[in-house]
Amino acid sequence: MTETPLPRTPAWPPKSAPRLFVGEGLAQGRTVTLDGPQAHYLGKVMRMRAGDIVILCDDVTGEWAARVIDAGKREVVLEVAERLRAREAVPDLWLCPALLKKDRFDLVLEKATELGVARIAPVITRRCVADKLNPERARAITIEAAEQCARTALPELAEPVKLDALLGGWPEGRALFFADENAKEQGGEPAAAAFAAHSGPAAILTGPEGGFDDAERAAIRAHPQARPVSLGPRILRGETAAIAALSVWMASAGDW
Ligand code: SAH
Repeated sequence: MTETPLPRTPAWPPKSAPRLFVGEGLAQGRTVTLDGPQAHYLGKVMRMRAGDIVILCDDVTGEWAARVIDAGKREVVLEVAERLRAREAVPDLWLCPALLKKDRFDLVLEKATELGVARIAPVITRRCVADKLNPERARAITIEAAEQCARTALPELAEPVKLDALLGGWPEGRALFFADENAKEQGGEPAAAAFAAHSGPAAILTGPEGGFDDAERAAIRAHPQARPVSLGPRILRGETAAIAALSVWMASAGDW
């Protein structure tokens, strides 16, 4: 006689539960009051009501299911119910992208977060068109991307530094994979092979719209931890190079 399958309980928390990063530490039973854009999102956009479930992360303790207690016009009050996941350990990969024009760098920030990077350390090089980054705006992009892709750990976001400062303070034991568009002439392993052959902390350095100049290229190649890599025979835009190199790394040495 065939067993009648048990009724499948609906997934909990519901897949549709909104996910937000909040500033304060989360703990069982704690009350969290959200206002401003987060209250608007929950109350007006997602039309959350008392009893509905929201997933909250604090980038420290992990991911929690919280129940809406009161969804008012200006504030939404929630009670933290239970922890769903601890804060994840993401692969120890940094991205050091040269600053690009705003909308293209926004894309790098968003995609690097989705792709699982641990830290984004922007670099200022001689041919950078942009020479500064709005930290609040950049942070908001990484938070939104982390909420969308269900990360429980935000990527660290460093202040932009000049290339020589980056090289001068480079940490021991971390490989610096240098995406060199001149790898054909000046040498450089295919990225996938170089990444797969390396285990341990790593970083990927990519250049700006105008590429690296010869002096910069020589300084990078002179660094003991620099490993020049090729991203193929075509010249990729800076944002394409950053996103493609991250993808190759995640597939060869990351957590895909
Ligand atoms: N304007 C330059 C290219 C800049 S491309 C030129 O025409 O030569 C922007 C950055 O993307 C480069 O500095 C490099 O870091 C990376 N990149 C682009 N294509 C690449 C390739 N085929 N191999 C390795 N890195 C590449």
